[in-house]
Amino acid sequence: MKFSIFYFLMVLVTLPFTAYSQTSNASDMSNLITEFESNDNVTATYKQTIEFYKRLSNTFPTIQLSEFGMTDSGFPLHEVVISIDGEFNPEAIRSQGKAILFVNNAIHPGEPCGVDASMMLARDLMEKKTLKELLEKTTIVIVPIYNISGSLNRGSHSRANQNGPEAYGFRGNAQNLDLNRDFIKGDTENARSFNRLFTKWNPDVLIDNHTSNGADYQYVITLIPTQKDKMESALSTYMTSVMLPDLFGKMKAGRYEMTPYVYARNTPDDGIAGFLDYPRYSSGYANLHNCISFMPETHMLKPFKDRVWSTYDFMVAMLEHIQVNKDGLLEARKKAMQNSREKSVFSLDWKMDMERVDTLLFKGYEAKYKPSEVSGLERLYYDRASPYEKEIPFYNSYVSTLDVNKPYAYIIPRAYKQIVDRMKENGVEVFRLANDDVKEVEIYKIVDFTTGKSPYEGHYLHKNLQVATSIDRIQYHKGDYIIYTNQEINNYIVHTLEPQAPDSWFSWNYFDGILMQKEYFSAYVFEDLAAQFLKENPDVRASLDKKKAEDQKFAESSYEQLKFVYENSPHYEPTHRRYPIGRMLKK
Ligand SMILES: [Zn+2]
Repeated sequence: MKFSIFYFLMVLVTLPFTAYSQTSNASDMSNLITEFESNDNVTATYKQTIEFYKRLSNTFPTIQLSEFGMTDSGFPLHEVVISIDGEFNPEAIRSQGKAILFVNNAIHPGEPCGVDASMMLARDLMEKKTLKELLEKTTIVIVPIYNISGSLNRGSHSRANQNGPEAYGFRGNAQNLDLNRDFIKGDTENARSFNRLFTKWNPDVLIDNHTSNGADYQYVITLIPTQKDKMESALSTYMTSVMLPDLFGKMKAGRYEMTPYVYARNTPDDGIAGFLDYPRYSSGYANLHNCISFMPETHMLKPFKDRVWSTYDFMVAMLEHIQVNKDGLLEARKKAMQNSREKSVFSLDWKMDMERVDTLLFKGYEAKYKPSEVSGLERLYYDRASPYEKEIPFYNSYVSTLDVNKPYAYIIPRAYKQIVDRMKENGVEVFRLANDDVKEVEIYKIVDFTTGKSPYEGHYLHKNLQVATSIDRIQYHKGDYIIYTNQEINNYIVHTLEPQAPDSWFSWNYFDGILMQKEYFSAYVFEDLAAQFLKENPDVRASLDKKKAEDQKFAESSYEQLKFVYENSPHYEPTHRRYPIGRMLKK
């Protein structure tokens, strides 16, 4: 993390692109050397990365570089497609029976291993015969740099605990948002473009490359697979029993043994846990598309060189796996799609199952304590002179805490076009009401929820939602949206539209309008109306009296009692806290 010339180059990379040469040819490979290969503590800048892929695509007709949508930086998102027969159309590739591997890089530009590894891999797949053969059954789509604005914001200090490269980008994007929380809420142009690109390719496997923080241990690379207990069972079984053992085995046989991500409870000695990747994260988002997804996390204290090469090796291991197991992978995915379409019960949230604990043979460093030179208090350190290999607990099972039955269809008032637009970008089929119509639907009333006290990724996230349901006849209008739940993308539909889900539109504040009352009452005026109303409605009188008897504070508050009558009278607005999306339970 030395101060270097690269620090000053950050100014240059913000300049617009210049036109660039198209004179490369396959016999001259000298311009296909990456910046990392010239200096293994260097990661390519955004401009260098795109220029490299341009040279590559000009050299090899089997590599296509194109722009795909905009990002917050003002620069477009790029897709690199590597297809051995030069077929770049997703439908055609799929009809050939090929698998599609999607690689995302620099979502956190301070963690750029994937950028450099992907550049070298794309080139080597063209130049090295044994690698080239791996393209027979797989087409690869690479996002060279996802968080472009973060990547342009280059420096040498923001990753305080990281060992190189000399200069790198910043985690926040131009809105200072973490793109790895934005896959559902879509506050950034990056996420909106990504949603469309991901849907276009509908990949079978996603690799989203990262670098870790946290404990020290012997491994250079760790792996977060999407949480297995959230997946459709056919995919989960395939991933856990076929794919993961093969990937871990391949990595162990190679240069960089890999371990599950070290999500330590305290230190790894106490055990590590599987990460619950909600749909806001890349892997959780991909899971809603029934895409098996991974976040490899290289270890921040290992040399950048090893981090890049281990990322490279992992991607090769994945290609090798697919080469042999493509049919099993596609079959599992097909079953998952069918189950998503046909199942009626959807799990929305989970908790760790502390009863089900596996053991993991782990190569760590002993955690020790010594006095801190800063505080004088005891501090933790990992003693690299004391490596160990031992079994540690691995908590990797989750159980559902919230199940819902899908409705026949959801009806969404046209006013909520923004969420419908996002859903369409994810391949959701949406119909519109041809006429005004009164529909009998199940409606949620928001009974209770909590809201974060601090902003979280540009929002005040809602949690712990409690709802009550009722069947009502609701007036809908021509142009309102209908989403049927007979779709392969049902997991996405249910997880965003069911308000209790952790990453629902409701949780991300798209329905905050309904949480505020629009009309109130003046106590002195409402007194007489309330008295008359209670005379005419003895049942409300009875419940008022009951509440007074049970609740001393309520009994002493005239306002609270008037409010109680108001809320049980026709004067109270029905739209307050009524979730506006109706659940049609039958045709
Ligand atoms: Zn990261």
